[in-house]
Amino acid sequence: MQVVDKGLVLRETPYKEADVMLSVLTECGGKLSVLARGAKRKGSRVSAGIQLLTYSEFTLYESGGRYTLNEAEPVEMFFGIRNDIVKLALASYFAEVLEQAADEESINPELLRLGLNSLYALAKTSISQEKIKAVFELKVADLSGYTPNVFGCSCCGSVDDIVAFDIRNGALLCKACNNGYHKRIDAGAVDAMRFILREDIKRIFSFNIGNESMKLLSAATDEYLRIHFDRNFKTNTFYKGLL
Ligand SMILES: [Zn+2]
Repeated sequence: MQVVDKGLVLRETPYKEADVMLSVLTECGGKLSVLARGAKRKGSRVSAGIQLLTYSEFTLYESGGRYTLNEAEPVEMFFGIRNDIVKLALASYFAEVLEQAADEESINPELLRLGLNSLYALAKTSISQEKIKAVFELKVADLSGYTPNVFGCSCCGSVDDIVAFDIRNGALLCKACNNGYHKRIDAGAVDAMRFILREDIKRIFSFNIGNESMKLLSAATDEYLRIHFDRNFKTNTFYKGLL
């Protein structure tokens, strides 16, 4: 059966001879493993469309739950990322996270939207990498079912004087209830978290935040994703090593 679907290439693994196995986050079919026969051969007509972090229209052949590639027409290649090693490293982290977040059984089109919007922001806007990364991390955790409770202090319910973020429990603590063991956070970072969790993905980067709050937010979301996904992402370590 022939299937046409758009999707983002999250991983390409060399397979037999000139073949490549792709992991693609698709719009309608969720995450798919797709075998691209002969893709590494010189002059292969699919080579542009199957590059890592390319959003393409794929024509696939499905048989018994296995997908092989017929055609891959690039829709967006995010060139602004490809000629910048630091941006490419951050985008590769996004791809690794999306691969873990997307499962093969359920379809979550919001994950693909978040991935595409984050890559777009990185490739084509002047939004800081620190902000794009923090927004991506918090929203991907949210879309994966690890939504922190950012309404008020988890202990007394106060919405004022929030000073700490309990990463493991995804909960805030106010000045009076903080026992000193949790990640420091401030009002600006809490406002940003509320915004990111509430807004539609297309507006998700449109908030203002001071430098100090941005630093606190970014440290919190980095650790939050690592703890809740229970994984040290190699690509994140690599990215941070370049800064
Ligand atoms: Zn409290």
